[in-house]
Amino acid sequence: MTDHDVEIYESREAQVGELRVRRALPTRGRRTVGAWCFVDHMGPMSLTPDRSIDVAPHPHMGLQTVTWLFAGEFLHRDSLGSEQLIRAGQLNLMTSGHGVAHSEENPGLRSGEMHGMQLWVAQPSTTRDGGAEFEHFDTMPTIETSNLSATVLVGSFAETSSPARRDSALVGVELNLHGGPVTVALEPNCEYALIVANGSVLVDGTVVQPGALAYLGAGRDECRFDSNAPSRAMLIGGVPFDERLFMWWNFVARSQDEISDAWRAWAAGDDRFGRVASPFARIEVSPPPWLMALH
Ligand code: MN
Repeated sequence: MTDHDVEIYESREAQVGELRVRRALPTRGRRTVGAWCFVDHMGPMSLTPDRSIDVAPHPHMGLQTVTWLFAGEFLHRDSLGSEQLIRAGQLNLMTSGHGVAHSEENPGLRSGEMHGMQLWVAQPSTTRDGGAEFEHFDTMPTIETSNLSATVLVGSFAETSSPARRDSALVGVELNLHGGPVTVALEPNCEYALIVANGSVLVDGTVVQPGALAYLGAGRDECRFDSNAPSRAMLIGGVPFDERLFMWWNFVARSQDEISDAWRAWAAGDDRFGRVASPFARIEVSPPPWLMALH
């Protein structure tokens, strides 16, 4: 075994609709982990009748959204006609391809705990201009060992595979560490990162807590985690993504021109992104900065 460095990247606070989140990716110095290009950690927070967190209809392209809750629920609606309630332990995976729109609404419930993550996966050039798709899974495969319960969202981990679509070699796993050491097998050709949702995880002598992304790098065939108390984290990984991404707002592209086209199509209410049957008005956004001078 060789020693590996763990790089810590602090998350930054961001606003998504009415929701304050910790954005763990992209961050200064770290844009992707495999094809994972975006991680928002929301909550834990208490919702009340006065405080709901609906995210109104908005477009995506060139990415997959992975919605994963530890507590609470959301109603997903999209321009494919999907209407799907998601609860803790269930997976919503939306593939945008050339274009899709969706809303995420906090249904009727409006009180109680909300805690989760939304992650984006950059689609490779082979699928990013293709069709949109939505998948929901009520239950996901889990792994139990003495000190660990794990749930495989995407890809394969510990010889357990998720049924969810994936367009590149990547993995996403919720780790519930019960306390004590845990060693997990990793793929040396993949890079990995850990985002702690609650508690605290020790990785190679480095303490990782909520509000940071711990980048584990590539070249490991295993990694040892330790915790003093029950702790929950998301482990993401994949083969380093070799296509240069251009990201703006809710779009993942390869150039400014692609972003400009997508923004114009959304602003015009074009069929490219379709319509979402939501009670909320669609989100309008100012043009990207390089178009501002033209408006
Ligand atoms: Mn979205």
